[in-house]
Amino acid sequence: MTYHRVLLKLSGEALMGNLGYGIDPKVVTEIAGEIAEVIASGIQLVIVVGGGNIFRGVKAASAGMDRATADYIGMIATVMNAMTLQDALERINVPTRVQTAIAMQEIAEPYIRRRAIRHLEKGRVVIFGAGSGNPFFTTDTTAALRAAEVDAEVIFKATKVDGVYDCDPHLNPNARLYQSLTYGYVLTHELGVMDSTAIALCKENNIPIVVFNLSVRGNIVRAVKGEPVGTIVGGFCEVI
Ligand code: UDP
Repeated sequence: MTYHRVLLKLSGEALMGNLGYGIDPKVVTEIAGEIAEVIASGIQLVIVVGGGNIFRGVKAASAGMDRATADYIGMIATVMNAMTLQDALERINVPTRVQTAIAMQEIAEPYIRRRAIRHLEKGRVVIFGAGSGNPFFTTDTTAALRAAEVDAEVIFKATKVDGVYDCDPHLNPNARLYQSLTYGYVLTHELGVMDSTAIALCKENNIPIVVFNLSVRGNIVRAVKGEPVGTIVGGFCEVI
């Protein structure tokens, strides 16, 4: 299976590495190197980046902050990550554009769907910052939305584990890894692949989600080239 246009969802935590907070430049450089390989193979790539390594709206709201305000701060955090990734990519000569869903025209382009598609056609990596621009949403939902908007064939969701398990592999050594799952199964069993809004959006638009381990070197390239890594959501249910 070779893809033409794909969306990579990087959580903020993916950029954090083993640090407890913020960005590990070494990890970002490694991710950028893998992305460069993807681009070199001619695949068009959009990236939605999270912000959980810096600020999470829900957490701040549970400590008493107004939820919408907290979420806007969370969205701004994603822009920091987007710019960091852009910098790492451009240092190794990968052309990029950052587009934000909240206008910050001095530092990034505003999100314009047709313009994003044009960038992709020209071989630029498009990094979407500021989530969907709406509080009460997540960057996972943004990934589903943008994938549908730009006609990405698949979402690659980078995580710290090998895929989706029937229970927490850190707590239970007998946890079983799913090879594939249906959207319905993920929703009814409340598996923490992505939030339910994101899964529902992918289901409606028939966009498969591949959940894979980012910390295994070379996995981004393997996943994007269609090699079996992790768990695919969208097909049928099968345990490895
Ligand atoms: N956020 C939001 N609307 C969006 C996307 C993100 O309000 O469309 C806020 C929300 O507060 C969230 C924060 O941005 O906690 C960081 O995004 P997320 O938690 O999705 O990042 P990740 O878990 O992928 O690092």
